[in-house]
Formats: sequence, C-alpha cells, structure tokens
Amino acid sequence: MSRDPAETPDTAGPDAAADPASPDDVAVLDPYDLDHDGIAALLEELDQPSYRADQVAEWLDRGVDDPHQMTNLPTDLRASLAARFGPTRPRLVAHSVADAGRTHKLLLEYHDGVAIETVLMLYPDRATVCISTQAGCAMGCPFCATGQAGFRRQLTAGEVIRQVMVAHAVLASGQLSAAVEVQAEESGDLRLPDGHPERVTNVVFMGMGEPMANLPATLATIDYLHERLGLSARSITVSTVGLVPAIRRLAQHGKPVTLAVSLHASDDELRDDLVPPNRQHPLASVEAAMEDYRATTNRRVSIEWCLIGDVNDSDEQARGLAAIARRTRSHVNVIPMNPTPGVRWKEPSAAAVARFMSTLDEAGANATLRDTRGRDADAACGQLLASYTLGQGRRLPVAVGAAERIDARRQDPES
Ligand code: SAH
Ligand code: SF4
Repeated sequence: MSRDPAETPDTAGPDAAADPASPDDVAVLDPYDLDHDGIAALLEELDQPSYRADQVAEWLDRGVDDPHQMTNLPTDLRASLAARFGPTRPRLVAHSVADAGRTHKLLLEYHDGVAIETVLMLYPDRATVCISTQAGCAMGCPFCATGQAGFRRQLTAGEVIRQVMVAHAVLASGQLSAAVEVQAEESGDLRLPDGHPERVTNVVFMGMGEPMANLPATLATIDYLHERLGLSARSITVSTVGLVPAIRRLAQHGKPVTLAVSLHASDDELRDDLVPPNRQHPLASVEAAMEDYRATTNRRVSIEWCLIGDVNDSDEQARGLAAIARRTRSHVNVIPMNPTPGVRWKEPSAAAVARFMSTLDEAGANATLRDTRGRDADAACGQLLASYTLGQGRRLPVAVGAAERIDARRQDPES
C-alpha cells in the first residue's frame, strides 16, 4: 500500500496539513514510499506473479532504485517500472566532514528543490545516521537553528527512508575517504577512523524536524528499518519535544524503539518558552506519556537536556530535572548548547556544566554529559539548517518572542 501522507496528527504544526508534500507529487511515485503490500499491488497491476514483489523489494533494500539495474526482472517489466517511478532519488549536493573525520554531514536535495541534512557518525562499533523528518520545523524552540528557520514541508516516508539508503551507499563506497581527502587539503588533520561498520547500524531521529509531528512517515520508516533492513528496535531512537498523543500512538505501534524526550526545562513557565509545544502538552502530561511509554514497551526513556548558559543551568532546574528523571526512571543526557547563528544564548561555562552534573548526581539522577558531534562543521545532530533553501518558514505563534520573554524574566524575576 502506498503510505498515507494525509494522515497527519493534530500536533503537526500550524501549516503541516495545509502544506502539501509538493505541488507535483501526484505524478511522482517513489518506490521507497511503497511498503511491501504496495509493491505487490503495483506488480499485480502490471500482471506480474507475486514473487516479483520480493525481487523488487530486495533490490530496493540493497539501495538499487533504478529498475533498469534490477537484472533478474524481465526487460519489459524493468521498462514499465521505470515509467512509473518518478525522479525521486535525492541529490547529494554537499558532503562536509567534521570531528577529525568521524562525522559526515550530507546535504540532500529532493526533486522539488527542498534540501535537508542527514548526519553520519562513525564509531569503531557503530555507524549511526541522524535523519530528518521535516524540512524545517514549526515548533520554534528558540535555541535551535532548525526552529529559527521555521517549517517548510513534511517529508514523505520514502524521503526519510532514502536518507538511510544514501548513508548506506556513502558507507559502502569510497565516498567517505574521498570527502576526507578533499577537505584535509583545506583544513588538515582529518582522516577516516581506522575501523567502522560498512552499513548503518543505528538510526536516530534527531535531525531536522519533529518526528512526532510527522507520525505516518516516522512509523513507516521505523517499520522499514526493522522489517526490511533488519535493524533492532533498540538501535532506533526517536527524539521528540513531547507531543503526547503521538507518543501514545508510538507506544502502541508494537516496535519498542528508544524514546528520547527533549525536556530542557523542569517547570512549565520556562518550558512554555523554551519548548513552545509545552503550552499544549504541559510537563505533567509529558511525564505521564513517558511513564506510559515505559510501561507499554518495557523500554527506559531518555531525557535530552540542552544546557544553555544562564537559561536552564541553575541548581533549581537541575533538582527539578532530577526529580522528573527519578519519577520516570529515565536516563538524562545533558548536551551543552552548540552556539547557533541568530541565537543570542551561549553554551554554559565549564564550571556551570560541572556544577549542573554534580547537582543532578546528588539529587539521585542517572545522567551522562554528552558532546554534540560535528560542532566544527555546525553539523551537530539536532541543530541542522539548510539555510539557503529554508528561508523563513512558519512557526508556532507562541514561539515568537520566546527568547525575549526568557531574558526579561532572567533580568527581572518578578516580571
Ligand atoms: N525535534 C526533535 C528532534 C530533533 S532535535 C526534538 O527536539 O527532540 C534533536 C535534539 O537536538 C533535541 O534534543 C534538541 O533539543 C537538540 N538541539 C537543538 N538545538 C541545539 C543546540 N543549539 N545545541 C545542542 N542541542 C540542540
Ligand atoms: Fe524543532 Fe526539535 Fe529544533 Fe525544537 S529542537 S525547533 S522541535 S527540531
């Protein structure tokens, strides 16, 4: 079946429903937008025996999307499929390398010119790809580069899945070392790490956009990764600002992926401005959804906390965070904020980070200090910005002025 792009949750953001995937998408069939039943239906329409669906699916899963290269299919079928599939393969328009060669930022452009970023991170035992679910984001968190640019459009399931396929292809080809060589000439001190897997082993939904505001594409991608590429639910992490109805639907989906909730504030007053969807889904409801997720899936939930100097690094915030982490039995990941163009706030001082971590520890939270990958190429997972294509999209009305309100309260706590 073709996955239903119209099935958009009410939390998709102000213009998600109004913004179609693209003006001409009716004419464009992306083979990665079809699940196995959809491929079978297409082949039935073309009067093919049912085993052909498995053959086509196998090629797609190996990253081959050009029917002319599907050599075990009859030539006339290859031509019929080629006539059906649109020009949906994204173009890899830029590949930049950071972290001494371990982080690769890929800029992908889709058929309508919309561009998004996908980040590949190499470790000795893992190759993690950080994928985007939307071009831009409507949530408007005032510390996030994607949030500043606003929302452009939803990505289809096929477009999300293709990011993983591109990462696979880049890993399996000589492209990684070629990119490192080119950039080493400019910036020196880059080289590929000695060993890393040849295939993607982990996927994190922490790129551009809010995965829970594009739930159909997120669920279809999880299904594809699990059922077709064989990734375990454990190796998939979905990060969300806490859109409660969508978290509950994810819990019911039957694939216990790791859920990461971007908390960033431990009281509603600060969180309303730092994470604007908190106005619809306040902390108590997010906490209840986290507990529900753990109870339903038997998986420990993670809390993400972007630590921003003088904004959410106080002892009071640390104690509030620790209390939530204890109640929900969550693990906390603290990530010092990456400086972001157009954002006035700064990363916290080393002393403030140390103090925040020790307050968490004293208050009984299970917490890890993390460094965002790719700082030197502003490729940090989760603060991506294809700035030259995004322009100013729309944001939640409450997001406008959020930073000003936070700073005003900081200067005058009574205001
Ligand atoms: N929209 C989802 C997933 C994408 S953002 C979410 O917000 O969870 C992934 C992570 O990157 C989030 O935890 C987000 O808070 C974090 N992030 C955003 N901007 C950042 C910045 N400037 N520095 C460090 N982390 C940032
Ligand atoms: Fe969107 Fe996540 Fe950035 Fe907030 S932090 S604006 S939800 S991408």
